[in-house]
Amino acid sequence: LTEKLSRLVKEMRGQARITESNVQDMLREVRMALLEADVALPVVRDFIARVKEKALGQEVLSSLQPGQVLVSIVNAELAATMGEGVSDINLNAQPPAVILMAGLQGAGKTTTTAKLAKHLIEKRKKKVLTVSGDVYRPAAIEQLKTVTAQAGAEWFPSTPDQKPLDIARGALDYAKRHFFDVLLVDTAGRLAIDEALMREIQELHGALKPVETLFVVDAMQGQDAINTAKAFKEALPLTGIVLTKLDGDSRGGAALSVRQITGAPIKFAGVSEKLDGLEVFDAQRHAGRVLGMGDIVALVEQVTAGVDMEAAQRLAAKVKSGDGFDLNDFLGQIQQMKQMGGLSSLMDKLPSQLTAKAGQVDMDKAEREVRRKEGIICSMTAKERAKPELIKATRKKRIAMGAGVQVQEVNRLLKEFEQMQDMMKKMKGGGLMKMMKRMGG
Ligand code: GDP
Ligand code: MG
Repeated sequence: LTEKLSRLVKEMRGQARITESNVQDMLREVRMALLEADVALPVVRDFIARVKEKALGQEVLSSLQPGQVLVSIVNAELAATMGEGVSDINLNAQPPAVILMAGLQGAGKTTTTAKLAKHLIEKRKKKVLTVSGDVYRPAAIEQLKTVTAQAGAEWFPSTPDQKPLDIARGALDYAKRHFFDVLLVDTAGRLAIDEALMREIQELHGALKPVETLFVVDAMQGQDAINTAKAFKEALPLTGIVLTKLDGDSRGGAALSVRQITGAPIKFAGVSEKLDGLEVFDAQRHAGRVLGMGDIVALVEQVTAGVDMEAAQRLAAKVKSGDGFDLNDFLGQIQQMKQMGGLSSLMDKLPSQLTAKAGQVDMDKAEREVRRKEGIICSMTAKERAKPELIKATRKKRIAMGAGVQVQEVNRLLKEFEQMQDMMKKMKGGGLMKMMKRMGG
């Protein structure tokens, strides 16, 4: 999130509702943030349109913190676009289950092949064979041999003078005869989209009938990711994506582009050159990265700062000094606690279920309740507020009339006040601050 965006969110805090125009302002900033994260332009456009539709929906219009809610919508929509959750490698096939690796040269296919071999051996106790169909670069076959040994899997030999299709058939036959569970097929890299090479991998796909066809893509690929993804999607029925080099400093916007274009789930993330640098992809976490996670946290902190800590401190001091806790203090407190309560539930789950949570808290209702209570206390005289024990039947009736509520509601408020007062007596000042902090998350 850019500085400007958080400022807009802050400004919107004071506004009762989201309007078409302030949504426009904020979405412009979200758009910038996504482009900075290298999400492809058409994907950004689509995304913004979806968010806008949701933002102008009823949920946001009636919420107490429109800026907050808009940010959480953005975050949730990002996560939803990038995936629905954890999905491991599918091995539901007559063994050997074949996994075909596809992607541009340098994307990380060979490295990922070995990482997956290690993952399948260690986590899923499989017997794994690898083979390289990259006959164009002799070093590529050697590279796979080396990393396969490191992964603890078996490597099926191939040479540059063979045809990839023959290599693949030989490996498949060998895997069957030796009861391998999985055959990982590494393929030739393409520097750019190349017709002949695309045909070659299509042939491999036809012959091998892989249960997984994984598209390996470099997270640092920028706007171009969309073209690469399109070409591979048209050539092959992709079943999953591996996003590599996420240990780099890119914001990983390619994830959004590639996922949107191919529709295939992002299954894994490469997070180092080493063979244990493979993680199950976490869309929620990645959404935070694309948007600038630290900034989201900072944003929520800004809003938290909106809670009047000074007043809370004054109140704590008062209780401590034994001045007594009256209805004026109670008024200040219910206001603050409502405010913090709403916030804390948001912060609770940040970033993972920010929106889900925000949807649960009926901020509107909470606000109405605070207003009613405020109304009741404001209908009391200064003397009554300072000395609540003065409030008997006639005064109650008068207060209720003034506030436009039933007498029972006045009673309920007084009861609540007494309970609070009791608690105050027991807790003393320090405890109060602690309690309020706890409620503030
Ligand atoms: P291929 O051409 O698609 O087979 O790509 P390689 O597997 O040979 O990888 C290309 C380069 O990227 C190598 O130097 C790898 O070490 C490196 N690499 C692959 N995956 C990752 C990753 O997740 N993180 C980092 N930092 N480097 C990676
Ligand atoms: Mg390679």
